[in-house]
Amino acid sequence: MNKVKYCIASVLFLIGAVVMAQEEGDVKTEREPGHYNQSRFKQLYEEFATPNTYRSASGAPGPDYYQQQADYVINVQLDDKNAKINGEETITYHNNSPDDLEFLWVQLDQNVRAKDSKSPLRDGNGVNIAYTAGTFTETFISEPFDGGFNIESVKDASGKPLSYTINQTMMRVNIPQPLKSGEKLSFSVKWWYNIPDHTINRARSGYEYFEKDGNRAYVIAQFFPRMAVYSDVEGWQNHQFWGSGEFALPFGNYDVSITVPADHILDGTGVLQNREEVFSKEMMKRYKQAVKSYDKPVIIVNQQEAEAAEKGFATDTKTWKFKATNVRDYAFATSRKFIWEMQAVKIGSKDVMAVSLYPKEGNPLWEELSTRAVVQTLKTYSEHTFDYPYHKAISVHAKNQGMEYPMICWNYGRPNEDGTYSDRTKFGMISVIIHEVGHNFFPMIVNSDERQWGWMDEGLDTFMQYLAEQDFGKNNPSVIAPNEKYPSRRGNPADIVPYMGGDQKYISPIMSNPENVYQLGPNAYGKPATALNILRETVMGKELFDHAFKTYAQRWMFKHPTPEDFFRTMEDASAVDLDWFWRSWFYTTDYVDIGVKGVKKYYVSSKPTKEMEKYMADRNLTEADLPPLVYLAEEDSEDFMPELKGKSPTETSQNLKEFMMDNMTEAERSQVKEPKYFYEITFDKPGGIPMPLIVEYTYADGTKENVTYPPEIWRKNDEEVKRVISSQKELVGIVVDPKLETADVDTTNNSWPKKEEKSDFDKFKENIKGK
Ligand SMILES: [Zn+2]
Repeated sequence: MNKVKYCIASVLFLIGAVVMAQEEGDVKTEREPGHYNQSRFKQLYEEFATPNTYRSASGAPGPDYYQQQADYVINVQLDDKNAKINGEETITYHNNSPDDLEFLWVQLDQNVRAKDSKSPLRDGNGVNIAYTAGTFTETFISEPFDGGFNIESVKDASGKPLSYTINQTMMRVNIPQPLKSGEKLSFSVKWWYNIPDHTINRARSGYEYFEKDGNRAYVIAQFFPRMAVYSDVEGWQNHQFWGSGEFALPFGNYDVSITVPADHILDGTGVLQNREEVFSKEMMKRYKQAVKSYDKPVIIVNQQEAEAAEKGFATDTKTWKFKATNVRDYAFATSRKFIWEMQAVKIGSKDVMAVSLYPKEGNPLWEELSTRAVVQTLKTYSEHTFDYPYHKAISVHAKNQGMEYPMICWNYGRPNEDGTYSDRTKFGMISVIIHEVGHNFFPMIVNSDERQWGWMDEGLDTFMQYLAEQDFGKNNPSVIAPNEKYPSRRGNPADIVPYMGGDQKYISPIMSNPENVYQLGPNAYGKPATALNILRETVMGKELFDHAFKTYAQRWMFKHPTPEDFFRTMEDASAVDLDWFWRSWFYTTDYVDIGVKGVKKYYVSSKPTKEMEKYMADRNLTEADLPPLVYLAEEDSEDFMPELKGKSPTETSQNLKEFMMDNMTEAERSQVKEPKYFYEITFDKPGGIPMPLIVEYTYADGTKENVTYPPEIWRKNDEEVKRVISSQKELVGIVVDPKLETADVDTTNNSWPKKEEKSDFDKFKENIKGK
C-alpha cells in the first residue's frame, strides 16, 4: 500500500497504544479490556499425552509405531435345541511390541452375563420411578441368567495345560516364559456358554425366539475368548467389560468353521470357503447373477423358501467355513428363517457385495430398503475416507438391535404384523443400517479403543451417518421427495441444543469414559457428530475439513488411533489451529451462547471528544502537540452536535479534508465513497465456547451484508467484543448466527433490535383466543 495510509495507521496505533498503556492506573470503563481468559486459546500441551516416537506430533503413526496381531482358528457348534455354543480355538499371538510379555490377557466378554457378574452391583441409584415388567422380573423375580463363559481348557501348542486366572471379563494366561519381542506363541482354548435371548436385555448378541413357528434367529458375537489389546498407550488393556464401554481388539486373520443345523442360512465375517458345499444349485445360480447385478439386489433365498424352511427343524448339520484377513473381530448370523439378498457395488476399481439377511417379519420394509441403505453407506463413507477394503457388507435384521462387527451388523426396524409401518420405523431402520454398516470404517478399520473412548467410533460414525443419510435422501426419490431432506435425527446443530443447554449436573465432557457418563447418546454420538458437522460447515469449510478427515482415516486405516491422533491430524492437514475447539467441545461441558448486546451510533467530528480532552489535559497536551486527528462523536453523548448529522466526514472534519487534499489525487478523491454512518456494536458471549461470530447486518434499503469474524475474535476478551462498522446506509438490524449453525443455546439475545419474543403466557393467551 502507499505510504500515506501507512502514516495514518501508525498515528492511530500510537494513540491507541498510549491509551492502552494508561489503563493500568486510570482505567476507563469504555475501553476496559474486560475479563481475559486466554486459557480457552491455550495450546493443549498439558492434556495431550503425545507426541513420542510411537505417535508423531503431526497425528500420524510415528517411526516406532507398532501393533500386535492375533490370528485365530476357530471351530464352533451351535446347539439350536438348547441355545448353546461350544467352541475351540487356537490363537496365534504375535508380539510386535518392543517389550517382553510375562503373561497374556484374553477378554471373556460373555462374563458380563455370568451369574456372579459385578455389572448389576455398580448401580447406586436406588428405586426406579417405574419398572418395565421385564426389568422388574429380571431384577426381583427370576434367577439371574447363567450366560458366562465356561472355560474347559487352556493349552499350549503341544497340548499341555496352561494355568490361567479369570478376573471378571478378563483372563490372564500364565505362560511359562515371557513372550519375547518379535516372537509369536500359539495356545488353544475350549469353551461353551448359554446363548441369551437378546430381546430381553438388548444384549449385543443372542437369539430371538419366534413363538409362532418355534424358530430362533441368532446374531452371534463376542462368542469366543478374544485377545485384549497391548499397546504403547495402555500396555495391556485393563478396563473390564461392564456393559457400556465396548471393545478394544487387535487385528488378525481368522479361519472359522461354524456348524449349524443343515437347514440354516448363515453369513458372517470373511470369505465363504465352501460355497458349493453349503449352497443349493439354485442358490449358486442366483449368486452368480447377484455378483453382476449393480442396480438391484438378487434374491438368493426367497421368502417362500424361508417359510418352507421354518417348518423343517433338520437334525443333521452343515459346516460353513470362512476366512477373513486383517479383521479385528468375528461375528455371524444364522437361522432357517432367513431371506437372503445380495447386490454388487463398485467401490473404486473393486466390486463389493451389499448383503441383507432377514426373517419374513422384516418385510415388506427390508426387501425394499435394507440393501439400498447398505449400498449408500459404502459409497458415501468410501468417498470421505478410503475405498471399503472388504468384499462384502451384511445388514442382518434383529429386533431392537443396532450392533456392528467387521463386514456384518444387526439392525432394527420391524413393520407391524399386517405389514404396515410408520415413517419413524422406516427412517429409524434406514438410519440404523447406515450407522452400523458405517461402523466398518470406525472402529472396525480405523481401530480406535471403544473401551476407553466411545466417541471416537460413535461420534465419527454418527457424523458420517449424517452425510450418508443426506446422500440417501438425494439418491432415493421414492423415499425422499426431491425438494425434501432426509430427516436426520443427529448432526444438525440445533438438535444438540437441548442437551448442551441442559442441566450441567448430568453432562460430562465428550472426553469421558463411556461407563462414566449420564447420557451416552448425546455424549458419545450426538455432540461429537454435531461438533464435526460445525467444524466442516462453519469453522473450517468443507474443503479443508474433508481433506483433513480423509487424511486421518487413511493414516489410521488398519491401525489403532487415539484422540490426540485425531485432533492433531485435523490441524496438521488443514493448517487450522483447533486447540480452542477441541478444548471447548471435547474437554469441557461448556455451551455456545453468543449475542448482540448493544449498538452505538457515531458521527465524524473535528472537535475533540470529552474523552480526548481529558486525555490531553492529563498529559498537558494541546491539539497542536498532536498530529491532525479525526474524532467519532457518539450520538447519545455530550460530544454530539446536531449539525454533524447527515453530513459526510470531509464536511465535518477539516483535518480529514486537508489530509485527503494533500495526499490523494483528484481522480482518487472522486472515487472515494464516504461513509455517513458509524456504529460500534457490542457482541457478548454468555456461553463459554468461543465460536466464529457470524453476523448478518441489514441496512435501511433492505440490503444485507454477512460477515463472519473468526473465533479468535474472543482470544483476548472472553465476555464481549466490539466491532466498528461504517456504511453509507443506515443500519437497521443485526442478527447473530442467522442460519443457526453454531448450536447457540439461547437465541433470544441474537438480534438487534431485540425481537419481541412472546412469553409462554402470551402464547397461552393466543391459544385460548384461537379456540
Ligand atoms: Zn454405533
